[in-house]
Amino acid sequence: MILDLGSLSRGEIKVLPFSFRMEAPDVQDVTFTDSMTCEGQVTDIGGYKKLSCHVSVPYVGACARCLDDVRGVFEFDFNRIVADRQSLSEEQLEEEGLDYLIPDSGKIDPEEDIRDEMLMIFPMRLLCSEDCPGLCPKCGKPIRSGLCKCSHEKEIDPRLSVLQTLLDEDGDEV
Ligand SMILES: [Zn+2]
Ligand SMILES: [Zn+2]
Repeated sequence: MILDLGSLSRGEIKVLPFSFRMEAPDVQDVTFTDSMTCEGQVTDIGGYKKLSCHVSVPYVGACARCLDDVRGVFEFDFNRIVADRQSLSEEQLEEEGLDYLIPDSGKIDPEEDIRDEMLMIFPMRLLCSEDCPGLCPKCGKPIRSGLCKCSHEKEIDPRLSVLQTLLDEDGDEV
């Protein structure tokens, strides 16, 4: 989506609202079931402009512990300062892409930056719930599903239970 900042730059308007959809980036083992929705505005704040945008996209993936489907809507806020190249110092230019959107002929296209941001913050491991007990080590079925009829309590050697707790706290499969 190309946003023309002309009327903002000429002072005709102070706020340029926008709303568009774009393709989600590829994330391994995750399916985005719809395109990303981006809604926001570019605001002129006396001398510089600020782009703020709310992004949401529905996804489905597999729980890293029990492999069950994890569905949800991933949402984040995307905020950038819009600044002309010549108004930025060397230091600021080095950070370009992190904090700034630089217009080309008075226009900006934030899509690539939005995708980059999403790739940085999308969780590496999805969990159906924070305390998902995962798969039964004996029968391979998800422990919480009720399909596993194995006994788990008695099997843990008391000498190992401390270690077990430590592993659990680290969030690793046990
Ligand atoms: Zn799970
Ligand atoms: Zn079992």
